[in-house]
Amino acid sequence: MNRGTPVTLRMHPDDNVAIVANEGGLPAGCVLPPGRPGAGLTLRDSVPQGHKISLEPIAAGAPIRRYQVPIGYAREAIPAGSWVHEKLLRMPEARALDALPMASVQAPVASPLEGYSFEGYRNPDGSVGTRNILAITTTVQCVAGVVSLAVQRIRSELLPRYPHVDDVVGLEHSYGCGVAIDAPDAVIPIRTLRHISLNPNFGGELMVVSLGCEKLQPQRLLPPGSFPIVDGRAPDQAPHTVCLQDAQHVGFMSMLDDIVQSARPHLERLNARRRETVPASELVVGVQCGGSDAFSGVTANPAVGAMADLLVRAGATVMFSENTEVRDAVEQLTGRASSQAVAQAIVRELDWYDRYLERGRVDRSANTTPGNKAGGLSNIVEKAMGSIVKSGSASIDHVLSPGEKLRRDQRGLVFAATPASDFICGTLQLAAGMNLHVFTTGRGTPYGLAECPVIKVATRSELARRWHDLMDFNAGQIADGELDIEAAGWALFHLLLDVASGRKKTWAETWKLHNALVLFNPAPIT
Ligand code: CA
Repeated sequence: MNRGTPVTLRMHPDDNVAIVANEGGLPAGCVLPPGRPGAGLTLRDSVPQGHKISLEPIAAGAPIRRYQVPIGYAREAIPAGSWVHEKLLRMPEARALDALPMASVQAPVASPLEGYSFEGYRNPDGSVGTRNILAITTTVQCVAGVVSLAVQRIRSELLPRYPHVDDVVGLEHSYGCGVAIDAPDAVIPIRTLRHISLNPNFGGELMVVSLGCEKLQPQRLLPPGSFPIVDGRAPDQAPHTVCLQDAQHVGFMSMLDDIVQSARPHLERLNARRRETVPASELVVGVQCGGSDAFSGVTANPAVGAMADLLVRAGATVMFSENTEVRDAVEQLTGRASSQAVAQAIVRELDWYDRYLERGRVDRSANTTPGNKAGGLSNIVEKAMGSIVKSGSASIDHVLSPGEKLRRDQRGLVFAATPASDFICGTLQLAAGMNLHVFTTGRGTPYGLAECPVIKVATRSELARRWHDLMDFNAGQIADGELDIEAAGWALFHLLLDVASGRKKTWAETWKLHNALVLFNPAPIT
């Protein structure tokens, strides 16, 4: 982009605001050039990059429209050419969850995409891993320190002998005791942990470390029959468990040795596996955004939406989530549901989440961060409209409650209801069966997961340049006029196949950037 030429971006011809694309923003007195929204206007204020300019005079109380929807109402008269910052907007009320359009929109008919494949690890239950990882399930936080040291030892002493195993990870978390385990909502953290243990990147191996006295006993976490096939054994047999309080353990070294030795047969079986060519339909991609700015909804999220459409056409599964960031777009979601039942499930999840927030005496507006606002996002409505485009244009085929796992026959576009918190959303998408993660960011976050490759997409070229060894794809090229959204979607689609096949590592994998698993626990703590 020529940094001297003012560049403004409008999302829809009906919008009365546009955002400034130029790095460093635009100064007061600047005249907008022909051929762009606001041509001929003189700026009354200096406007930072990513922030909004009024393209016409807006009367007090009139809607400020972006993405063709009112993102707010003017608190005072706003002359044309003004900086429309968050203090000038009154936020609209949340759309009521009744009388919504239900399964009313016919998704555009797109031809199936055939012939695309990747190299993956086929699991005993038919699912496919993009990595070959030994995961050690923990029933309770008390064992986390011991497991973490055991993982270090397995990495240094055993992994060099098993070159086809990518890594070993401890599935550590904060619970196991503390949670009122019989409270109705405790089902969410319990099933989340169970289902993460069954993630396709772990090859169907189950290895558990327990303390002994915890509320969440191994047989409650992984009851017989809750897992399809475990390391070749019958499904009614309990997985191998190391219990630290067992009388056989005399001293700390005994516990550590037991965990390290127990890992051997699992590593043997994982190491015997090889990648094989599988159809692209075996991808289960979780999409998410974090550290959003006004470009998220202009560059990175539309590119991810185009990628999502390609994946759905290829028969793959795409999960989108983040309840508070889709709440203001609820009528688009229910309209795009493939059936009445799916539309009702969307309403059920968002209604549950409204009441969850009410219990804490907040609402969806608690979502936006100081960084979002500094990046030009005035409120959650504007953020939501930019967030929802990650889901592309396909019809929504399935809905998952937090911690639920997708069945093998559930393909296509899935709304997996989760909080928007990056770590909780990522954790719940892992539980749902995600084998590849795509994460967009505008402000920048070094987010990564040990359990699954995370492909990070920058919204702006400036961020992609500054964080050249953290960002995997630069969607800022769209604002620079160097790439269109469809081409960006195809580029991401091919990048996904390369990363899924292990031909390419993500930056988070290269640097081993691993954020913690964070369980969503709406149940009381005792
Ligand atoms: Ca997020």
